[in-house]
Amino acid sequence: MKAFEYVGATSVDQAVKALTPGSSAMAGGTDLMNRMKDYVTSPDRVVYLNDVKELAGISGDPTSGVTILAGTRLADILASESIKKSYSALWQTTSDVGTPQIRNMASVGGNLMQHPRCWYYRSGFGLLPKSADGKHMLREGDNRYASIFMTDGDALYAHPSSLAIPLIALGAKATLIGPEGERTIDVADLYKIPVSNTDTLFTAKPGEILKSISLPASTGKNGSFEARHKQAHDWPLVMASASLTFTGDTVSDARVAVYGVAPLPWRSKAAEEAIKGKPVTVETARAAAAAAAEGAKPLTMNAYKVAMLKTVITRTLCVTVGNRYWEA
Ligand SMILES: Cc1cc2nc3c(=O)[nH]c(=O)nc-3n(C[C@H](O)[C@H](O)[C@H](O)COP(=O)(O)OP(=O)(O)OC[C@H]3O[C@@H](n4cnc5c(N)ncnc54)[C@H](O)[C@@H]3O)c2cc1C
Repeated sequence: MKAFEYVGATSVDQAVKALTPGSSAMAGGTDLMNRMKDYVTSPDRVVYLNDVKELAGISGDPTSGVTILAGTRLADILASESIKKSYSALWQTTSDVGTPQIRNMASVGGNLMQHPRCWYYRSGFGLLPKSADGKHMLREGDNRYASIFMTDGDALYAHPSSLAIPLIALGAKATLIGPEGERTIDVADLYKIPVSNTDTLFTAKPGEILKSISLPASTGKNGSFEARHKQAHDWPLVMASASLTFTGDTVSDARVAVYGVAPLPWRSKAAEEAIKGKPVTVETARAAAAAAAEGAKPLTMNAYKVAMLKTVITRTLCVTVGNRYWEA
């Protein structure tokens, strides 16, 4: 990898001051180091965040809301009984990320700010990879893991962060801190589509880091379900999270987010509208899943994701109400 200057920050203030242009923050390093070794990302300076004590920990209570600091390891989310009980969509998703070794190193902030796994990007061709004759490499090439929504544009990779999906379904907020102070936005608003290969994937301003994630008070029920190649350490192919509130047995409000189908975490308003006003049964969940798939425009090799999306949303809605019908 390219030689770089190393700064071991011990406070947020020190980290923010050290993050001058050309620098990268590093938490667990499980994504950044790989990109550095492959010359995909070559910072002049790496600012190490893992020794910043004020960036790690989980506080609060599900009755009023829980704050997870950005440096908190994924393993610490799994050790939290209140997250397991009240935010099971997040707990379940976290338990499926990588391996125990990765979950012991990986931070919440690093997970949310990881870069796409697209192999053209990881091979140095950029997020919007074009060949010399102007052809889009992913559109014309091997796009089996790419998006099925937003495919009219040039960003065809699939968004990589598993944790973003339950956090968006749960309505979580992200607090960023930088040279101009703190600001809080919806987790979904952390992301944007890059307009060129040198543009960023994130809305964070120069020098800003993610400080914390705030989960609102837990009301209703939530759950996640993912489909992957095999039961081993890999990213999901398609995954979804739902957060539902009820009046009696009827869904009064719904938030559904989906992984693996778009270059941004995909909020399925269609599924949300379709399940509202109904009890969650296999039939109503299937109808919501069918609505979610409308408008999908798969590429040449990933039409399977449309069928997978329907199954995953059906199962996510059913899991949320404790119905694992496919295991019966
Ligand atoms: C085999 C394998 C399987 C995996 N499976 C999954 C999976 O199923 N789902 C999934 O989501 N991920 C998966 N991952 C990816 C893994 O979860 C991420 O690499 C990890 O979460 C990144 O966290 P980190 O702390 O190591 O980040 P780092 O590598 O340290 O950083 C990643 C990026 O985030 C930035 N960053 C870090 N902290 C902050 C902060 N506080 N503020 C702003 N920017 C910050 C860094 O600058 C960098 O660009 C897998 C990885 C491997 C190797």
